[in-house]
Amino acid sequence: MKVVLIGVGQAGGKVTQALAEFDYEMGFGAVTGAFAVNTARSDLQELELDTMLIGQDRVKGHGVGGDNELGAEIMQAESTEVMDELDQRITSEVEGVMVVAGLGGGTGSGGAPALAKELQRIYEVPIYVLGVLPGRDEGSIYQANAGRSLKTVAREADSAILIDNDAWHESGESVEEGYDHINEQIAQRIGLLLAAGEAVEGVAESVVDSSEIINTLREGGIACMGYATAEASEDPEENVNTITSITRNALLTKMSLPDAVEAETALLVIAGDPERVSRKGVERARKWVEEETGSLQVRGGDFPLNSDRLGALVLLGGVERSRRVEEFMDRAREAAETESQADPTDEFENDDLEDLF
Ligand code: GDP
Repeated sequence: MKVVLIGVGQAGGKVTQALAEFDYEMGFGAVTGAFAVNTARSDLQELELDTMLIGQDRVKGHGVGGDNELGAEIMQAESTEVMDELDQRITSEVEGVMVVAGLGGGTGSGGAPALAKELQRIYEVPIYVLGVLPGRDEGSIYQANAGRSLKTVAREADSAILIDNDAWHESGESVEEGYDHINEQIAQRIGLLLAAGEAVEGVAESVVDSSEIINTLREGGIACMGYATAEASEDPEENVNTITSITRNALLTKMSLPDAVEAETALLVIAGDPERVSRKGVERARKWVEEETGSLQVRGGDFPLNSDRLGALVLLGGVERSRRVEEFMDRAREAAETESQADPTDEFENDDLEDLF
């Protein structure tokens, strides 16, 4: 699936760069353009991407701190310039735009929903937000900002694909230390998902294409994904259990929103050497995904890759009613209360997070 990436804020820029590099190194060609926007000059200077500094008149290149309302205002005020920059990259082959941002900060938290809204107004292709949720140990301002941002993003974007910062970091590693590692994991997984619609190596019967990804995300709301791999035998008959067990592993322990299992839609992609893929294994794995997610719309397909391992990539759409998302919204609501007690002028309602617009 050919996409243009636009990173907003610090996390947005770094994750965008990691994704663009992964796609380039693998030779997939799914990322056709990428650039980063920020209110903080120093964050942009660290990137090897095309960049654009916004809000200079308001914050003089120093960023917005944790003020996501200011982040949203600046993006709204300068959306024409950002669109001009983007427009040169949206060619006729582009099938989607992905806005990438950390939802807990300021520039990305406020800027991503504002930008998604503007993009929806102008482009026909789907607009996705790849949003990073703060880990449990991050402060209450991050939780409160992310809760607020998520509500708006889920409404404005065609789908909000979420990555929880607690999901893919190694044990013993703090979230801070782990950023580069997490960003690589995000790049690999989202990169494979996008490339899956491109079928780079060989053509199998049941190769997945972009429309399967788009249709899985069509319901809107919140999406997440997981990926697991295992060594595979050369004989496909021996890989029936391998395929079912990597699928189970991806869905139950490796999701970008851990424990988000109930879903409206799902896509199961089996990546690897087509000669090693057991159709029986794929069929069983797909049935299992149907039962586990409770979804009546489980799509599937292969992604031919030259490897002696097999991988299962699971994309879930419409997970907003899952326990994980409810838990996060509770955490954000509590954090918003703490924040508004600390600052009584804050406009948060206690039990109804206002959105940014
Ligand atoms: P902004 O520049 O104002 O948009 O703020 P940030 O992008 O720094 O957003 C802060 C949130 O993003 C926090 O929840 C951080 O944990 C998270 N974050 C910051 N940098 C990274 C990164 O490189 N990778 C990941 N995965 N998360 C990050």
